[in-house]
Amino acid sequence: MNPNEYFIKQNCPVCNSEQSIALFKNLIHTCNVLKKAGINVSNEDAPADINLCSNCKHKYLSLIIKDKFINNYYGVVDSEYYDTAKDNPYDGRVKDTKKFADLIAKKCTDCYTVLEIGSGLGHLLFQLKEKGYECTGIEPSGFASSYSRSQLGLNVITGLLNRETFPTKKFDIVILSDVIEHIYDINSLFSLIEYYLAPSGRVIVLTGNSNSLYARVCGKKWLYFYSWEHVSFFNKSSINNLFTRHSLWLDYFKETQHTGSFWLNTKTFALTFRGMLANFLRLRNHKFFYMAFDHFIAIGKNIKK
Ligand SMILES: [Zn+2]
Repeated sequence: MNPNEYFIKQNCPVCNSEQSIALFKNLIHTCNVLKKAGINVSNEDAPADINLCSNCKHKYLSLIIKDKFINNYYGVVDSEYYDTAKDNPYDGRVKDTKKFADLIAKKCTDCYTVLEIGSGLGHLLFQLKEKGYECTGIEPSGFASSYSRSQLGLNVITGLLNRETFPTKKFDIVILSDVIEHIYDINSLFSLIEYYLAPSGRVIVLTGNSNSLYARVCGKKWLYFYSWEHVSFFNKSSINNLFTRHSLWLDYFKETQHTGSFWLNTKTFALTFRGMLANFLRLRNHKFFYMAFDHFIAIGKNIKK
């Protein structure tokens, strides 16, 4: 067993600085990603740190899985998320998807064409299509992309985006929903987005908010840190920094929850405090807590002439 065969250390994915401090050391992941990706190392044998970039304050995972393993995992084996969705691929967050589509429609009235990168099962794209947008998706998972075509009638390409994917198209809106935290080479992806974005086009990002109150309360035990799929943990400052590097102006930023109502998230917050107390009193040993009010939606506007 040689971890170097499977992992590489990453610099800050936003600014590429090597200077960082280890915010949380020796985090032991709890997911099945390594096993599914054919990586012959246990989670216990691959402790990783959550680093804080000294230059731009972005938070990121110190170790990442090499391309050949992770690309095969997302494309052929399928993300661990689909292990549960495969039997029952309904939208587990219908109201959130609708709300998100409504917000996009409200904020992007002058837009018509949409590209969703990592369109998953296609639920958000379907909502936007219903609103009259011309929608295209690209998704590495064979299972998810095929579902979105056959069951939702969407135009979705299976694979990873490159400059040859759409030889003649530009898009008014590019969406990354629950995607940016998975991306290793984020600047390459944003260069591609720049290439495909129409003048005055918008990039819309939904991801975890590493500076949210809940994430800060949970510290090392924030659920978001416990999947090898998540390698980048954005906040308002680091998304703004990334946007600025790619001719995007932060047009809109809103803290939000990922799933469920205000009251459900409040309940999760309360249960987290109860769990922390139980840990403190050594009645329980919660390895991590869940998610509540710990996401954001950011919209970047193309300022390139
Ligand atoms: Zn940085």
